[in-house]
Amino acid sequence: MSIDWEDIKARHRIEDVMEGRGFKLRRSGTGFLCKCPLHGEQKGESFSIDTKKQLWKCFGKCQCGGDVIKLVMELEEVGAVEAAEILEGRRLMDDPPGTQRIPRAPRERPQAAAEILCMRELPHIPKLYAGEVRHWKALAELRKLPHHAGVDLAVRNGVVRFCLAYEKPAWAVLDVTEPCNVQVRRMDGGLWFERAKVMGIKHNWARWPVGLTVAMRSPQAEIVLVEGTGDFIAAYHAAADGHTGGIPVAMFGASNPIHDGALVLMEGRKVHIIEQHDEAGALATERWREQLVEVGCDVRVSKVPTEGQDLNDHLSAGRDMGAIFGQETTNTNQQRQHHEP
Ligand SMILES: [Zn+2]
Repeated sequence: MSIDWEDIKARHRIEDVMEGRGFKLRRSGTGFLCKCPLHGEQKGESFSIDTKKQLWKCFGKCQCGGDVIKLVMELEEVGAVEAAEILEGRRLMDDPPGTQRIPRAPRERPQAAAEILCMRELPHIPKLYAGEVRHWKALAELRKLPHHAGVDLAVRNGVVRFCLAYEKPAWAVLDVTEPCNVQVRRMDGGLWFERAKVMGIKHNWARWPVGLTVAMRSPQAEIVLVEGTGDFIAAYHAAADGHTGGIPVAMFGASNPIHDGALVLMEGRKVHIIEQHDEAGALATERWREQLVEVGCDVRVSKVPTEGQDLNDHLSAGRDMGAIFGQETTNTNQQRQHHEP
């Protein structure tokens, strides 16, 4: 089917779309001015709307503009078809086979998600595979782990998958059921587009902790909260080796607070934060602990002993895991129960 772009544009006015999203418009001449939502403008009003021509432009940092479709594309970081679907509130096109849509994220502009938004994004969740022993081995080797039992456990629990992303073999960290935050890294350890080690999927909920689906299957178990894909795998390694009976859950980006929706699900849980030994790690702990305590969690914190190191560094350097998780060795069978049904 074809989309009648002119018809859609005629039925959705830029000023209505802006006001509908809570942006305060100030009348100026025949149009409106407001703070530019695209670059998170604090001072000034660089965003101008020509109501007659139905065009907008940011005369500040963005130096770009367009019609109402382009506006929604920029606001939501989507393609033209999806922008039209958002305006119409319904599906206009079928997805190509093999793609999977994930729920829309609430907007996290401008500051918190800036780090993640600056990366190139995959258009959809790529086709994901559980892989086989050679994939698990390769990932363990990439992370400099002594064996691949932790990767195996993560795959069985449905939080690690393998895929092809931009024609590169890659591994993904996500909750396979209810995925709303998917982080993809290259199997060769390289950067995406010479910029980022980790690439988020379009519409990611950047603040959503990955692994929560697994943790929710075992309400009594402690949650081992770490930051980043590397420490997530390292925490799984520690679990497989019996250093913790807890279930690894990862936030991505030390500056991200935990998503409110996830906090509700974590209410009253025991949480063990594994803090990376740097300034960002300390700030993340402070932020997350405050949020978790507020929903009645029983929180303890262990800081990686060596300055500048994270859990993965500590582990791959062959250092004592008891220093982080305590000496007690828990029954690994408990971990095995966290398989996907
Ligand atoms: Zn702007």
